[in-house]
Amino acid sequence: MIPPPFDYHAPKTLPEAVGLLGRLGDEAKVLSGGQSLLPMLKLRLAQPAHLVDIGRIPGLDYIKEEGGFLKIGALVRESALEASELVRSKYPILADTGRVIADPLVRNLATVAGNLAHGDPANDHPATMLALGAEVVATGPKGQRTIAIAQFFTGLFSTALAPDEILTEIRVPEPPARSGGSYVKLERKVGDFATAASAAQVTLGAGGEVVKVGIGLTNAGPVPLRAAAAEAHLMGQVPTAERIAEAARLAGEATSPGADRRGAVEYKRQMARVLTARALQRAIHRAQENRAQAQEH
Ligand SMILES: Cc1cc2nc3c(=O)[nH]c(=O)nc-3n(C[C@H](O)[C@H](O)[C@H](O)COP(=O)(O)OP(=O)(O)OC[C@H]3O[C@@H](n4cnc5c(N)ncnc54)[C@H](O)[C@@H]3O)c2cc1C
Repeated sequence: MIPPPFDYHAPKTLPEAVGLLGRLGDEAKVLSGGQSLLPMLKLRLAQPAHLVDIGRIPGLDYIKEEGGFLKIGALVRESALEASELVRSKYPILADTGRVIADPLVRNLATVAGNLAHGDPANDHPATMLALGAEVVATGPKGQRTIAIAQFFTGLFSTALAPDEILTEIRVPEPPARSGGSYVKLERKVGDFATAASAAQVTLGAGGEVVKVGIGLTNAGPVPLRAAAAEAHLMGQVPTAERIAEAARLAGEATSPGADRRGAVEYKRQMARVLTARALQRAIHRAQENRAQAQEH
């Protein structure tokens, strides 16, 4: 399909981009990697009169630790996240997530910020960012504001971003020692969106008890879901097999997926349970490895 006609804008600076979005209002859409927006245009699910391409704005393509956060700039592609040694060694949950998104061709263009800004509960990064307790920086005409990821997804394909705001940075809190995370996804075939998927990030105390935990679920309802009851069940407790199983059951129970070609409602809820157990087991294993390293030093 051929997209409907639109005017194309390629601002060279952030203020120019924000100014354009303010002037063009609801008629305009930000274009980043185009891996979700262009298919939507081609299917005529979106028909914006203007596209504001942020891809030529310098200085938005960084992955760095600063001020207690891993900072991911708006133009970081999935392929760059995948290739980052810092991400692979210290944020394995992000590496797990990046490598199961679409295929290498898509990952060479798709941005992590676009994955969140699209507001699609089937996308993989939202659940991971919920588990990590991330926040995003929105830049608009009045400057910058930060939005906690838990407040970011407001509905199906809707986010807390105003039409004249650009998501310029993702901030992931640096994990303390004895932390580990994992993202586990069930897909019909490589490159597909999730039938179900679960993200878990865990920090253990000196006695092996859970002192911090985040669990996020993909494609589990109209918005990316944080499994709060499952988290509460683990907090302060040593994560035995029974506790993990019960937390996973609570996570599955919290879901409200829709039936589609990927499966029936009850099947998806069971898969959310099974995948949450696996994500927790791997996250805890990684946290324990971290703990052993911390004790050696
Ligand atoms: C074949 C295929 C398979 C896919 N499989 C998966 C998958 O398995 N898992 C998965 O998670 N995703 C998948 N996707 C979706 C895609 O990878 C993501 O949605 C993508 O990362 C979006 O980023 P982008 O930079 O391409 O955004 P774009 O397509 O350019 O934009 C998407 C939306 O976000 C807005 N937007 C983008 N960047 C910003 C910003 N910085 N500030 C404000 N608004 C912004 C745009 O206005 C638009 O509404 C797939 C896509 C394709 C084509």
